Amino acid sequence: MRTLHPFPGGVHPPEHKLESNSRPIGSAPLPSLLVVPLLQHIGNPAKPVVEAGEKVLKGQLIGKADGYISVSVHAPTSGKVLAVEPRPVPHPSGLPALCVVIEADGEERWVERSPIDYLNLDVSEVRNRLRDMGLAGLGGAVFPTYVKLNPAPDAAIPILVLNGCECEPWITCDDRLMRERAPSIIEGARIMRHLLGAREVIVAIEDNKPEAIAAMGEACRDTDFELVVVPTLYPSGSGKQLTQLLTGREVPSGGRSTDVGVQIFNVGTAHALERAVHHGEPLISRVVTVTGNVRRPQNFEALIGTPLAELVKLTGEPREDTTGYIMGGPMMGFDLHSTAVPVVKAMNCVIARSDRLFPPPPPPLPCIRCTRCAQVCPVRLQPQDLYWFAHARDFGKAQEHNLFDCIECGCCAYVCPSHIPLVDYYRFAKSEIWAREREKKAADRARERHQFHLFRLEREKKERAEKLAQKAAAAKATAAMPNPDADAKRAAIQAAIERAKAKRAGVVPRNVEALSPDKLQEIQEIEARRAKLREVMEKSGEDQA
Ligand code: SF4
Ligand code: SF4
Repeated sequence: MRTLHPFPGGVHPPEHKLESNSRPIGSAPLPSLLVVPLLQHIGNPAKPVVEAGEKVLKGQLIGKADGYISVSVHAPTSGKVLAVEPRPVPHPSGLPALCVVIEADGEERWVERSPIDYLNLDVSEVRNRLRDMGLAGLGGAVFPTYVKLNPAPDAAIPILVLNGCECEPWITCDDRLMRERAPSIIEGARIMRHLLGAREVIVAIEDNKPEAIAAMGEACRDTDFELVVVPTLYPSGSGKQLTQLLTGREVPSGGRSTDVGVQIFNVGTAHALERAVHHGEPLISRVVTVTGNVRRPQNFEALIGTPLAELVKLTGEPREDTTGYIMGGPMMGFDLHSTAVPVVKAMNCVIARSDRLFPPPPPPLPCIRCTRCAQVCPVRLQPQDLYWFAHARDFGKAQEHNLFDCIECGCCAYVCPSHIPLVDYYRFAKSEIWAREREKKAADRARERHQFHLFRLEREKKERAEKLAQKAAAAKATAAMPNPDADAKRAAIQAAIERAKAKRAGVVPRNVEALSPDKLQEIQEIEARRAKLREVMEKSGEDQA
């Protein structure tokens, strides 16, 4: 029998499970219109691959995975694409997002389905097929399943945990799924183990689900899987807390369970994986708990894209005093802004609100430093300090005090006698820090670009100066080099001048004997002038040479 290693803190809120877990999973009828968001998982939205007017078949690809952290999206039924446009989606921001709107033709005609022969295929090929079939975690975090099945090469994952704790109040979809479809879940876990190469498989279920424990125990009978019943304590189903509870390994600050060799999958994800591998069905439906202020709370298997209003109608018309709807549990869920939003992969539960079930909180009072919040924090944080830092916008200090280790479980706010909405402060602080980091990164990138621009200008200037200097040096070197052709030319000119001189020196006046002395005198003077002239001419010729 496995020794459990209790985590610190935790709370026991009223469970409210019986309201919805006593009826079997119902099948939600096909709606006339389905609105399928292209972002239903953590990561990049899928890229639409259909246009308005196109006919689609059930299970046909309508949005293709974009990047590593992304999965594909499929048509939940056959029909016609009416639009690819922003529509209201279930998100805390209340902002619309891009959706494929499909008008159902009522025929439910499937695309050709091809099961995955996972034992005879390369593991990476199987993972890629799971990405293309739109598998994402159904516990609420909707992390792409194929990424979780692809640990880093140096990170061995010896332990696979199948999470059937479902610790949040009101939610019972996993409970009913385990009771009704245990063999499929266990087969999904067997496939996961093969893909991960895990040695051990632990199936963890809280002790407030005896029927689910019995059904899963029966399904595990011929396996070496270990079924571990854990005490009911919120938030035992949270990844880090469950890892510690089952293995005694504490996930380091800022780390994940895989850092200590544990990978955790929700039981709903294992069921969806079995459907994908053995039946070739992409993820186009899920089980949703519809409970709270409704007449007949129940779990329904609903197509992704089914409008919330139609789902709620299945439990009888909402009661008159309904004030709104929560998606998820009351501890970690968020208020929905409209009943026009569709069922998405993350929607494990919808709770109709009323003042009777969820009385509005009294106005917050000042913190009295009672430290009750610290006593229940499962991460050993000091929630009252984090609150002060967030309140004073001292985000650096909040980070120093491990704000990002907060799993937003809400235990601290649940016990606070001053009714301070502590988790809202932590979410605000986290979003401010993310926004500032985004801004800082953008500013750093702009500065780097500017500095590189200056560096490039300086480099080009230097390169130009170097080229000019090289050219000048080359010209000087060329001038200094001996030039035999020029020397030979100069020598030939000098020789010609010398020959002309010699020739002139040899010229004697002829037939001058009979001339008078005056004429001779005149001739001598002419000869003297010519000699002078010749001398000048020769000098100038020498200078030119
Ligand atoms: S429980 Fe509330 S009042 Fe008490 S220390 Fe924490 S924040 Fe302050
Ligand atoms: S919400 Fe955060 S600070 Fe509060 S108890 Fe949970 S982990 Fe601790």
